[in-house]
Amino acid sequence: MESLNKKKELLKSVIIVAGGSGKRMNNLIPKQFLLLRDLPVLMHTVLKFYNFNADIEIVLVLPENNIEIWKNLCKKHQFNINHKMTKGGKERFFSVKNGLDLIEHKSGLIAIHDGVRPLIDSETILKGLLTAEKHQTAIPVIDVTDSIRLVEKDKNFQLDRNKLKRVQTPQIFDIQLIKEAYKKDFNPDYTDDASVVEAAGHKIFLFEGNIENIKITTKFDLDFAEFLTTKFSNIKQ
Ligand code: C5P
Repeated sequence: MESLNKKKELLKSVIIVAGGSGKRMNNLIPKQFLLLRDLPVLMHTVLKFYNFNADIEIVLVLPENNIEIWKNLCKKHQFNINHKMTKGGKERFFSVKNGLDLIEHKSGLIAIHDGVRPLIDSETILKGLLTAEKHQTAIPVIDVTDSIRLVEKDKNFQLDRNKLKRVQTPQIFDIQLIKEAYKKDFNPDYTDDASVVEAAGHKIFLFEGNIENIKITTKFDLDFAEFLTTKFSNIKQ
């Protein structure tokens, strides 16, 4: 048990990005603030990392005009977990960059996680940590079970789903390595942190994610997340 806790301490920092404006939900309240089991989605996400390692450095990236709303929500829900805040950028890349600027740790491992994925479980974080401890990079993936087609103009082609994986977060990296990688200029192909790190010349190592770790982007996802938390005890707070 003690050795497991020592391992958990290797994860020094987490950046939780919630800096997107969220146009898909058609809701005035940003999706990261909507209630899941009576608590804003983003608080569930923060708690998952705090419960993993209570000493972890937490940086939240929020849309600039939502910072006051978040502070008020923290008061309302008596949410006292220590964290730093910064504003989001135009693209996720710039939001992560802003988060990295606040990270104080100079060595060890850092997780970068989507604020709208509150159903991450500690077993998955640990798996990622152990992979990143060995290889400096680690991203969670899950199998593709649907058939997949590539659409190009008026043609479409089947792709071999056995060669494809769906990529989630948290993506875990050596702190120095990710800070260096994010010195690169923005490229629209960067949809996650692994794509930035890969462009900087590093190999990306995969580990198996937890399938319930969905990204809440629609009302359906929120209802589904509510259902999942009643079904699986490992993703409840
Ligand atoms: O929509 P997307 O998949 O990029 O969102 C993933 C996460 O990145 C969300 O939690 C979202 O709030 C965050 N994000 C951000 N800054 C942006 C765009 C997205 O922090 N400019």
